[in-house]
Amino acid sequence: MDDVRNLIVIGGGPAGYTAALYAARANLEPLVIEGFNWGGQLMITSDVENYPGYADGVLGPAMMQDFRRQAERFGTTFLTDDVTRVDFSERPFRVWVGDDEYRAEAVIVATGATARQLGLESERVLQGRGVSYCATCDAAFFRDKTVVVVGGGDSAMEEASFIARFASRVIVVHRREEFRASPIMVDRARANEKIELLLNKVVEEVLGESSVTGVRLRDTVTGEESVLETDGLFVAMGHDPNTALFLDQLDHEPETGYLVTRGKSTETNVPGVFAAGDVQDHVYRQAVTAAGSGCAAALDAERWLSEQRHASLSAGLAVS
Ligand code: NAP
Repeated sequence: MDDVRNLIVIGGGPAGYTAALYAARANLEPLVIEGFNWGGQLMITSDVENYPGYADGVLGPAMMQDFRRQAERFGTTFLTDDVTRVDFSERPFRVWVGDDEYRAEAVIVATGATARQLGLESERVLQGRGVSYCATCDAAFFRDKTVVVVGGGDSAMEEASFIARFASRVIVVHRREEFRASPIMVDRARANEKIELLLNKVVEEVLGESSVTGVRLRDTVTGEESVLETDGLFVAMGHDPNTALFLDQLDHEPETGYLVTRGKSTETNVPGVFAAGDVQDHVYRQAVTAAGSGCAAALDAERWLSEQRHASLSAGLAVS
């Protein structure tokens, strides 16, 4: 078993790395258990044009490498694996990666959110064989092909525009007439001659045996069914928080599973456990807000640890 650390950060996205940067610069020597697929949602984002400081834009994965490197520079330790279990019932808190146990006086949960799926069996069977959730990863496989993108939010618009750099035809399928996406993103998609918007339609089945050949659609107004030939299907319907590990221990919104933090702080219902980034934010969900939240969590954790030490000293107890 490892020594008791000051701080473990669970999650390697903008929130986790920013928390680690601040904590490392405060001499807390944090351990970031960053996940096997570290980097979070920025790894599936192409051009980031709205992160302050990158005046010419930056690719999401490159930005995450920068974040990680900056946290590393000040003494952060990384473990590139997935947390499998936590116990926040007593201090020090315990965090497991398989059979390996790590203990810390404070924990910051920054596990982010994951892409939503259609939930179709045909979708599952064809994942990686034409069904994708990551335009940045997979768009280049669809050069001069036809691609369907499902969703009506900013993700769908952004992914459609990115895929259109490669594909010859991109059809955005959305289940109603109004878009959730911001008008500027919809306008950008509309202005792209490769992109078509197909409204009031849902995907009922992904067609194809060894690879995607089409989708069966249902009209949400008339109920009419149709088949649309396509070489690929990008599901771009939003995200769910990665909170399964914590639901039995941390307060969360019952419907969505997003962790609940107190007031303007990053405090959870367990003193010493903090939550930062998209795992507790379904409103803003931006890299910059996640990073800001990670900073807040590190400051909250640092203050909390220092209060605990003062309390221990006042009580004449040995400080661990
Ligand atoms: P979102 O705003 O929640 O949009 C999800 C879309 O998928 C909605 O249009 C929704 O339809 C549709 N959808 C969900 N489940 C579906 C299902 N089972 N079948 C068919 N359609 C389904 O998610 P998002 O687009 O990922 O955006 C999330 C947040 O990130 C937003 O705040 C957004 O502004 C931000 N974001 C910003 C950028 C950028 O600025 N570059 C890029 C990406 C995301 P309904 O509308 O009918 O519910």
